[in-house]
Amino acid sequence: MAGIYIHIPFCKQACHYCDFHFSTNLKNKQLMIEAIKQELVLQKNYLNEPIHTIYFGGGTPSMLEASELNDILDTLSANYNVTARPEITLEANPDDLSERQLEALKSIGINRLSIGIQSFDDEVLKFLNRAHNRVQALDCMEHARNAGFENISIDLIYGIPNRDHKKWLEDLDKVIAMNPEHISAYCLTIEPQTAFGKWAKKGQLKPVEDDYSAAQFDTMISMLNQHGFEQYEVSNFCRDGFYSNHNTSYWQQKAYLGIGPGAHSYNLESRQYNIRNNQKYINSLAEGTIPYDIEYLSKNDIINDYILTAIRTKWGINLKKLEGFGYRNDTDYINSLLTNELAYTEKNNLILTTAGKLLADKISSDMFLID
Ligand code: SF4
Repeated sequence: MAGIYIHIPFCKQACHYCDFHFSTNLKNKQLMIEAIKQELVLQKNYLNEPIHTIYFGGGTPSMLEASELNDILDTLSANYNVTARPEITLEANPDDLSERQLEALKSIGINRLSIGIQSFDDEVLKFLNRAHNRVQALDCMEHARNAGFENISIDLIYGIPNRDHKKWLEDLDKVIAMNPEHISAYCLTIEPQTAFGKWAKKGQLKPVEDDYSAAQFDTMISMLNQHGFEQYEVSNFCRDGFYSNHNTSYWQQKAYLGIGPGAHSYNLESRQYNIRNNQKYINSLAEGTIPYDIEYLSKNDIINDYILTAIRTKWGINLKKLEGFGYRNDTDYINSLLTNELAYTEKNNLILTTAGKLLADKISSDMFLID
């Protein structure tokens, strides 16, 4: 089973924290759709497995009309062996989710929405430079339910500078009241190329202290757990087994194909990185060539990828599987994690505790193999 990710590289405006690849110029939207379809055809032999998940990410895929998304899906179905009921996710922003658009999305087979709400607070939304407001954030869920969506994920951001902790509690209360099947919540990171990164460099924005975001992380886990959400990955929670099948495949080292500018592909031997430039991507595909760089993975890369992703999940790292890769477990280090209650073991799996999840990146880098 494998997944296909399709990157739609357009946004209404640049959020101040975002370093994904996108353009606010939609002039070449139709040419981009043609290029994406062309890449789908050219890559049809990249995955030799049935496709069980399709994920429209971005950028802002909800800026496309349902008919445009359907055009892409038709090309995909004509060229790939898609399973009978694939998970088809669309990342969407609340300001795009009119009742008409939601009904149209449902009618073309989108069966999972990942809605980028980020916050329900107008001041915060403005600070982040999001295109939507609190009312749109609150209304989109009801509209989506009315259109028949039964698998909805909400994105939130915590660790935002200059923000009272009470506001984070209010966001958590609101999201719980909305009763989505899935929640993804990420700590704000300040990337150098973004507006926030530039302000931070000039001293105009002070990132929050680690303790502050750690407290918000802890509060989030206990509130979401109390309301029946299972933390199945450091930043991802769901009810009743509504895991993101697409993202879970990434964390389980399954092959995937990434289509569109800036998208990545992985086939267990190499990673391909498509060019992050809309015009060059369109021009190259018009000539029948996919513009990408390729990195062949060493044995250490494969082991490190497994450690990095598996450690963040509720299933943890399978120590036997690691040994099967030729990795020699450092029992002293693993014992120190157990003694300090940062991890526990269950059926040969090393699983992080809540305290360990806060240190997931540090623990995985401690375990990495260095070439
Ligand atoms: S809408 Fe999403 S992809 Fe677009 S700028 Fe904002 S965070 Fe980035």
